[in-house]
Amino acid sequence: MHPVVSIVGRPNVGKSTIFNRLIGSRKAIVDDEYGVTRDRHYGESFWNGRTFNVIDTGGYQPDETDIMTAGIREQVHIAIDESDVILFVVDCEAGMTSLDKSVARMLREDQETPVLLVPNKADNDERTLNAAEFYELGFEEMHPISAINGRGTGDLLDRLVTLLPEEKEDQEPDIPKLAVVGRPNVGKSSFINSLLKDERCIVTDIPGTTRDSINSKLSFDGKDYILIDTAGLRKKRKVKENIEFYSTVRTDRALKECDVAILMLDAMRGFEAQDKHILREAENYNKGIVIVLNKWDLVPEKDSNIHKEFEEYVYDKVPMMDYVPIVSASALSGQRIYKVIKTADIVLQERKRTVSTPKLNDFMERILKRKPLPMRRGVALKIKYATQVKSDPPVFVFFMNIPEELPANYRRYIENEIRKEFGFQGVPITLRFKQK
Ligand code: GDP
Ligand code: GDP
Repeated sequence: MHPVVSIVGRPNVGKSTIFNRLIGSRKAIVDDEYGVTRDRHYGESFWNGRTFNVIDTGGYQPDETDIMTAGIREQVHIAIDESDVILFVVDCEAGMTSLDKSVARMLREDQETPVLLVPNKADNDERTLNAAEFYELGFEEMHPISAINGRGTGDLLDRLVTLLPEEKEDQEPDIPKLAVVGRPNVGKSSFINSLLKDERCIVTDIPGTTRDSINSKLSFDGKDYILIDTAGLRKKRKVKENIEFYSTVRTDRALKECDVAILMLDAMRGFEAQDKHILREAENYNKGIVIVLNKWDLVPEKDSNIHKEFEEYVYDKVPMMDYVPIVSASALSGQRIYKVIKTADIVLQERKRTVSTPKLNDFMERILKRKPLPMRRGVALKIKYATQVKSDPPVFVFFMNIPEELPANYRRYIENEIRKEFGFQGVPITLRFKQK
């Protein structure tokens, strides 16, 4: 597992600009449903041969000062819980504020995690000199940078990577990881407790650092799994402020580590923007996905169609995700919690599926005949040859004459047909179109 670096500091000092520079994406992520939000808080960075994950803790920034302080306390909690090094960002343009001093105080309470003080917006020599006032905050080291023009960032990163601990070996590399994710109160802990209590399961703690101790090993039906519990640590720490953001950070992290994401929904509350974010993120990482409609015991009038109606409701919210299996369950009564694990196991197998090249090309011939490719730039588009280049997760490559002209709906047609023919239930598949 890669080490983790957190970025903390009061609003507007440039945390998300630094984050984007570190993970190499400069574009803000825009989604109509949230407006322009910082819906990404977790990313991977690479410097001098070291890979590390970065958390932008600035996802929660209220305007009023008193709750702002609470929000920042939350950030600092997350940073201390989750990271190996903390970048404490201040602003050389605006100068020192009382909020900077409170953050400094909170950070000094924790003696273990190394902190690098980073005065940002040091765009030129003058501003860099101004940064000296921040020595007053009492940190030994200071690295002024400009996140916008890149000044000083190389030196900061050089120093940062020397503070990273050794790469931690995955203790059980061959055991598949299932992450139980979802909004607060949907029943994640209850689900895990239900598994813990049942004699058909054997669950053992995996010792490790604070960060890892929420993982446990589940043996069920002759197979082993690592369960990643995204709610446990929060409960242990009794985090009260802004649970939503805390769980977002944990969730992003778990999604990155797992093989299958088990997204729990509260059947009585329905589907919300955060759920969509989780599904899209799991899909981006090419993880297997299972959706659980939990609290099924509370659903009145369970006639035979109700599950189908719920399914349609969920699929309607996230287009192109009807490949994801949905299990209705009750973490409280234990009803169908095994089905959840069994379904996750099917998804794990599906993720390993490989289609032989002859079979795939036979299939392509059939589907191309059924729906011929259109003309573009005066020539007929042609897919000449297809092959699955990898599995777990699956990637398909199609060689064709003008890949950039392939219509999006044709791409969807191929994906849908692949799923109809070969399955890949719960597994995002990658289709690449190359010129040949
Ligand atoms: P956050 O609230 O701490 O995440 O801050 P943002 O990353 O959103 O940045 C706040 C503002 O500061 C934005 O307008 C940025 O463009 C600006 N900013 C960030 N880094 C720099 C920098 O290095 N130099 C200058 N001049 N402006 C910066
Ligand atoms: P978490 O925050 O996602 O870990 O959610 P919890 O497991 O703490 O559950 C939140 C609340 O929902 C608790 O009061 C649980 O007892 C309740 N709950 C969880 N699962 C179920 C269920 O399947 N049925 C019902 N009726 N309540 C549930």
